[in-house]
Amino acid sequence: MLDQDVAAARTAFAGAADLDALAAVHVAHLGNRSPVALARRELGALPPAARADAGRRVNVALAEITAAYDERRAELEAARDAHVLHAERVDGTLPTDRRPRGARHPLTLVQERIADVFVAMGWEVAEGPEAEAEWLNFDALNVPSHHPAREEQDTLWLDPPSAGVVLRTQTSPVQVRSLLERGAPCYVVAPGRVYRNDPLDATHSPVFHQVEGLAVDRGLTMGDLRGTLELFARAMFGDDVRTRLRPDHFPFTEPSAEVDLLCWVCHGASAAGGDPCRTCGSEGWVEWGGCGMVHPVVLTSAGIDPLEFTGYAFGMGLERTLMSRHNIAEIRDLVEGDVRLTLALGLEA
Ligand SMILES: [Zn+2]
Repeated sequence: MLDQDVAAARTAFAGAADLDALAAVHVAHLGNRSPVALARRELGALPPAARADAGRRVNVALAEITAAYDERRAELEAARDAHVLHAERVDGTLPTDRRPRGARHPLTLVQERIADVFVAMGWEVAEGPEAEAEWLNFDALNVPSHHPAREEQDTLWLDPPSAGVVLRTQTSPVQVRSLLERGAPCYVVAPGRVYRNDPLDATHSPVFHQVEGLAVDRGLTMGDLRGTLELFARAMFGDDVRTRLRPDHFPFTEPSAEVDLLCWVCHGASAAGGDPCRTCGSEGWVEWGGCGMVHPVVLTSAGIDPLEFTGYAFGMGLERTLMSRHNIAEIRDLVEGDVRLTLALGLEA
């Protein structure tokens, strides 16, 4: 009778496919109303002579059933643990962050490209502070205190005004800094951020970027300036670009000129009676920046003898360069740093 109970319990435990099923059959074979529990309860009714032997057999049966249960439970627990280890496995070789890495800003990329172009010609990259001395931003560049360029309400002054510190309105003070640091000969290119007291609209921003170039050496002429600008333009816009110089006036260069690029959309046809062109306003040329031969006053400010050395300088707005080249209508698209713009421009190396 007890042997049948043990055999029935073993069969039931072995048939339990998982721990829940095993728990369900546990009550039937080891619970208070299981056959072996009832047998133990009936021991008291037996005659004393038979009680010891019957008790021993009940205990043996109980021990066998309990052992069978423990064994099956251990098996099922091991199976469960193995399953969990597999199902919840963590692959330590997977990347921790699968978001796209983003892209560097077009203005950063264009500054690096410009630096590469000039470093390849043996020039140095120069820098200056954005909070600049009034003297370097104006006086040393031949813009005296009564000059109209200084009276215009477009300069941001740092408090207190008597300290003579401005947010630089141009990268040109880097010209003077470079000459003061390096002396002549000097070949530097200086991309950087500049500030004007302008509201943000489609084509203006109170913060924008320029690149400044300065070459000072013995015997430099407008021809050297022209050749450098041609090379610079080809590096930025492609081999088929054409430039022209147009007389203009700046305080820190003499003579001075505007640099224009031949319109890359109509190639000048709109100005010669062809279809109207939005890119150049049917002018045939697109304004790129200013340039000229360094004014003797600027050389003298930096301690360079203008009788021994001559130099040329040029400056371009980088936002304008990018907007022109890639037909970006709003300067705000560059300011806001939308990564889609960078990706659309395809500038990322
Ligand atoms: Zn055009």
